[in-house]
Amino acid sequence: MDRQEAAARTLCKALRAAGHTAYLAGGCVRDRLLGVRPKDYDIATSAMPDEIANLFSRTVGVGAAFGVMLVITDAGPIEVATFRTDGAYSDGRRPESIAFADPEADASRRDFTINALFLDPETEAIIDYVGGREDLARGIIRTVGDAAARFGEDHLRLLRAIRFAARLGYEIEAGTAIALREKAASIVTTSAERIRDELVGMFTGPRPGRALHLLDEYGLLRHVLPEVAAMKGVEQPPEYHPEGDVFIHTALVLDALYQPSAALAFGALLHDVGKPSTITYEDRIRFNGHPEVGADMARRIARRLKFSNDESDRIVWLVAMHMRVACIPDMREAKRKRLVRTEGFDELLALCLADCRGSLGDVSTIAWILEYLAELPLEAARPPRLVNGSRLIELGYAPGPEFKAILAALEDAQLEGEIASVSEAERWLAAHYPRSA
Ligand code: ATP
Ligand code: MG
Repeated sequence: MDRQEAAARTLCKALRAAGHTAYLAGGCVRDRLLGVRPKDYDIATSAMPDEIANLFSRTVGVGAAFGVMLVITDAGPIEVATFRTDGAYSDGRRPESIAFADPEADASRRDFTINALFLDPETEAIIDYVGGREDLARGIIRTVGDAAARFGEDHLRLLRAIRFAARLGYEIEAGTAIALREKAASIVTTSAERIRDELVGMFTGPRPGRALHLLDEYGLLRHVLPEVAAMKGVEQPPEYHPEGDVFIHTALVLDALYQPSAALAFGALLHDVGKPSTITYEDRIRFNGHPEVGADMARRIARRLKFSNDESDRIVWLVAMHMRVACIPDMREAKRKRLVRTEGFDELLALCLADCRGSLGDVSTIAWILEYLAELPLEAARPPRLVNGSRLIELGYAPGPEFKAILAALEDAQLEGEIASVSEAERWLAAHYPRSA
C-alpha cells in the first residue's frame, strides 16, 4: 500500500469514528480495480465541510461552496468531498448550485460509470449504483444517465470521454457515442486551459495516437485543433512515408514516444503541422520550409492553449528543429557540439526517434548520434573558456559589441579542436583578429 492510500484510509477511519460515512471515490477506485496505481486518492463522505474542517488539523477549502475540502496529510493533500448533487448547469461549465446528498446521488452526478464507484475501506466492498463494475470489466465508456444531458451540462466531459477511451483502450457505448458526436461543437465554449489540460492528459498518456483518431472521428479535433485536422488526407511521398498521410504519420509518432513531457508530446503532435500549407508537387511531393512554417503555427497554437512561455518555447523549438537532426552527422564539429549541448536536445532526439519509428523506421542517424554522444568526453561540448572579455581588453582590443562575435569564433575554433590552451587561443586571436591599433 502506498503512503497516499494509507493516509486516505486513515482519514476515512477518523470520519467513520466521528459517525460519518466515508468512501474512497472515483478515479482511485477505478484504477485499483484495473490494477494500476491511482494518481491520487479522493474521499467522498457524509460529513459536512465544517465537520471535515473541525475533525482534521490542517484543511483548506478548495471548493468550499461545492463541499470540497483538502486535508493536508503527511502523504500530501487529499480531497475530501461531501456527497452532493449538482443543481442546474446553464453555462456548460459548472452547476449554479449544489446540494448535499446521499452516496447514490453523488454517484449520479459523476461523468462516466467507471468513475462513479465507491470503495468502503472498512469492508473493502465496492459500492456501485450505476453499473460501473460491469462497464469496467467489459471495457466501456458510458455516461452516468442521459448522455446528451450530461455532455450538455459540462462540455469538458466530451474530451474526458475521449481521454478515458484512449487511455484505457475502451469502446464508447453507442448512446454515449451518438451524443458525443451531436455535442462535439459545443467544446468551443470550454476554457482554453481546461481543454489544454485534457489534451495534455491524452497525448502524454497511453495510446495517444488513438486519442488523436478518436478526437477526429467524434468531430472534436476540428474545433480544438483545426490545424491538426488539416493534416488529414495530406499525402506524402510513399518512398519516405509508406504509412500514409501526415495525420496517420503524426498519430504513429505520438505512439512512439515514451513517457513524454507535455512539451514533447505537443512538439510531436505539431512537428509536421506546417506540411498542409507547404505541399508542392515537384520531382516528388515536397514540403519545403515546413519546419519554419510549422514553428510559427505552433507558436500561435501554444499561445491559444495558454501554455506557459517555457513550454511554448520548447514546443516551437522542437517543431523548428525536427529536420535538423538528420544533418548532424554532416555538420561542422563546432555547430554539432553547440546543438547537442542545447537544453532540450534530449527531447529533440526523442522526437526524431519517434519520427523515424512512425515512418520507415530507419534509425541509423539516431544511432550514429547516440554513439557520437557516448564517445564525446563530458567537457568536450562545453570546454572551459580560454579567453574572456577582460582578457581581450588586456590584450589591447577596444571594448565593443564585436567582443561577442570574437569570443564565439574563438569557441568555435576550440570546439573544432583547433585550440586547447590559453596560449594557443591568444595566438589564434592574433592571427584571426589582428588588433586594429
Ligand atoms: P485521473 O486519473 O485522470 O485523475 P479521475 O477519474 O481521477 O482520472 P479527476 O479529474 O481526478 O479524474 O476527477 C475525479 C472524479 O471526479 C472522477 O473520477 C469523476 O467521478 C469526477 N469528475 C471529475 N470531473 C468531472 C466532470 N467534469 N463531470 C463529472 N464528474 C467529474
Ligand atoms: Mg484523479
